Amino acid sequence: MSQKRDYYEVLGVSKGASESELKKAYRKLAIKYHPDKNPDDKEAEEKFKEAAEAYEVLNNPQKRQQYDQFGHAGMGQGGFGGGGMNMDDIFSQFGSIFGDSFGGGSFGGGRGRSQTVKGSNLRVKMKLSLEEIAEGVSKKIKLNKLVNASGVTYKTCESCKGSGRITRMAQTFLGAMQTQSVCNTCQGSGKFIDKKPSGADSNGLIRKEEIIDLDIPAGVVDGMQLSVTGKGNAGPFDGIPGDLIIVIEEKEHENLRRDGENLHYDAIISFVDAALGSSIEIPTLTGKSKIKIEPGTQSGKVFRLRSKGVPQIQGYGKGDLFVHIHVWTPTKLSKDEKSIIESFRDAKNFNPSENPDAKGFFSKMKQMFS
Ligand SMILES: [Zn+2]
Repeated sequence: MSQKRDYYEVLGVSKGASESELKKAYRKLAIKYHPDKNPDDKEAEEKFKEAAEAYEVLNNPQKRQQYDQFGHAGMGQGGFGGGGMNMDDIFSQFGSIFGDSFGGGSFGGGRGRSQTVKGSNLRVKMKLSLEEIAEGVSKKIKLNKLVNASGVTYKTCESCKGSGRITRMAQTFLGAMQTQSVCNTCQGSGKFIDKKPSGADSNGLIRKEEIIDLDIPAGVVDGMQLSVTGKGNAGPFDGIPGDLIIVIEEKEHENLRRDGENLHYDAIISFVDAALGSSIEIPTLTGKSKIKIEPGTQSGKVFRLRSKGVPQIQGYGKGDLFVHIHVWTPTKLSKDEKSIIESFRDAKNFNPSENPDAKGFFSKMKQMFS
């Protein structure tokens, strides 16, 4: 895993930067590191790409939130290609950010290829059990997606001669530059469909089932979105495919409650076990653990089973499992049981007001959990 710089650091803005601050910061970097100004400078090119990627994430409220919460890990790991933009993506983004005058670019000595059209994203919900989340899991999923139909033939757009772009010279803030804009006739694809097989839509696409394998990293969170680059719907006119977005849903666990990396379990023990001591079994995500109940255990006591929780998606270590002890007070009593318990009513050991420790115990507990 390469060490990626923090996106805010890349753009030189604060965590709370507004949309216009982001844009301003990105524009400054884009001008500074623009390939036209830095020909054959690999480092400038990397900086240019890095800034574009940072802007692409932070300018998208959903991606930004995900990044703020999970860092680079939230952007994709374990098979999920996050970030990483190519030059085509970057230049095609410029038009919408800075206006056409910024120019797609004479970068690379004029790219004699048409603008690629991106396919739409596919969203799939994935329900996972807590056990699967804790371990990470491989899943096969069936997609019903748009793919390029075979047998589609194209004819070249006359207006742009297939380049998808109209080129002209213009004055820009980088000086006189050859700038390009998207061809209006073909919307940048450089071609039109000539013949297509029956069943294909007007973009030459057809629906097809595909089964793909996914590795879900351990520690994902309900509502989290993982994107798999290029696994979405095919792009029209042989364009680049969209992304597959996996939306994580966490199934409710029978016994355990999750709170971030930690888990909680409510253990209900009998009044007799609490008084005389016992040993109880606790369900965990990997099996069972035993806990020793000491004689005189109070209701409300909490045991902490270290590293029996959920792994952090970003970084190392696991959360803990907290076991909350609740003492069950019998709600029905037989005549005999009643008389036995009744006989303890005035016994000193059964009376909290005669045990100075009792108050101290519960107030200490209150402090711990407030
Ligand atoms: Zn055209």
